[in-house]
Amino acid sequence: MSNEKQTIHDFDINIIYEYFSGTDRQGPGNTEETLKALNFIKGLTEKSKIADIGCGTGGQTMTLGQNTQCEIVGIDVWQDFITRLNQNSITLNLQDRVKGIVGNMENLPFQESELDLIWSEGSIYNIGFERGLNEWRKFLKIGGYVAVTENTWFSEERPNEIQEFWRKAYSQIDTIPNKVAQMQKAGYLPIATYMLPETIWTDYYTNQAMNIDAFMKKHKGNKTAEEFASSQRYEAELYNKYKAYYGYMFYIGKRIK
Ligand code: SAH
Repeated sequence: MSNEKQTIHDFDINIIYEYFSGTDRQGPGNTEETLKALNFIKGLTEKSKIADIGCGTGGQTMTLGQNTQCEIVGIDVWQDFITRLNQNSITLNLQDRVKGIVGNMENLPFQESELDLIWSEGSIYNIGFERGLNEWRKFLKIGGYVAVTENTWFSEERPNEIQEFWRKAYSQIDTIPNKVAQMQKAGYLPIATYMLPETIWTDYYTNQAMNIDAFMKKHKGNKTAEEFASSQRYEAELYNKYKAYYGYMFYIGKRIK
């Protein structure tokens, strides 16, 4: 797509994506936590196939590639992220079995029962937790696993400021028992549910803060860039203030029927 043909909206999106491509991970997560979750997945062999949905530049995709023998397909809507993923795969000599393709999680390019594992860190919110689990299940073999991370309320009651912020930003944020019930209703046996450490989010915001200076210098005077950077700062402040009330959880389930 040429620049001339882009709408203001496309331009805004470009700036936001550029901001995120400066980091190895575009969501809250790290290698240690990816490996911990992978430990729950049994029976993977060199014949198994994994899809990493909303993979970004593929930080966690490479971890999966280095720690299994499986074929892995990373899927993301953003071409630049996929290009980076495929470069990283070559650098790590994983290119024969770890690849990224551009695609949409609302319309995945897989056959029914093709996959042994669906992975999705910091991404399922784009389609919604419940809808994603329901729609993706058919691509898994019976006995296959789904492993996703999702922002979650830690308690039934929340201060108004944070309740309102997330109601607007992601209205499907819900409590742990409700998320587990949604997973079970979608046809999975809930295998593990656990909280990611606080540092997953504080590190994410710290890495971003390091990016912000260079990013703002480059886009000085650009309203979108300024508004975006300040919205990120606000989100980080809110997390600091209200982290007792919400955070990221891993939800791992097994397709049993
Ligand atoms: N899993 C990565 C990236 C998380 S950020 C990590 O943990 O670092 C969320 C990602 O979802 C972004 O890369 C974004 O481009 C992607 N995304 C958003 N909507 C999508 C859609 N409809 N289909 C596929 N990917 C999508």
